[in-house]
Amino acid sequence: TSPAIAVSACLLGRPCRYDGSSKPSDAVMQLGRCYKLVPICPEVTGGLPVPHPPCEIVAGSRPVRVMDANGSDVTQAFHLGASRCLEQLRDADCRVAVLKSKSPSCGSGAVYDGSFTGALVPGWGVAAQLFRDAGITVLDESQVHRLDVSLGPARS
Ligand code: SF4
Repeated sequence: TSPAIAVSACLLGRPCRYDGSSKPSDAVMQLGRCYKLVPICPEVTGGLPVPHPPCEIVAGSRPVRVMDANGSDVTQAFHLGASRCLEQLRDADCRVAVLKSKSPSCGSGAVYDGSFTGALVPGWGVAAQLFRDAGITVLDESQVHRLDVSLGPARS
């Protein structure tokens, strides 16, 4: 059987982003030739409707807090979605996740700073951080070429 990797569902073309759009990535979709793709969306899984107001991590918050653009605290939904998705990854035996960059759930190494101005700060989305803490390798859609290193050659 092919190894399983988790993938942000919006990168596979699912219209699950906060504004009802998707972000299809050819490079990510082509991974389906060699790997079993396990689509996840922590925000939908955490109970947020689509569409919903944009959300950002409050820069420097410890523990992490997530607010929406209307000023509502949505931290709990983000944690719930992240932990439920981690269960999905464990059930499917995913050692790698390819997640959408910059998202407050899925972002890798850089996320919006909480000012809703498009400014980025170093950091990880809530789900991306939880997965990393669980020993899962997290890449974004621009790092798909690293997969052979992190997962080993694709098997069929
Ligand atoms: Fe995509 Fe992740 Fe946002 Fe869901 S939570 S829409 S998978 S970036």
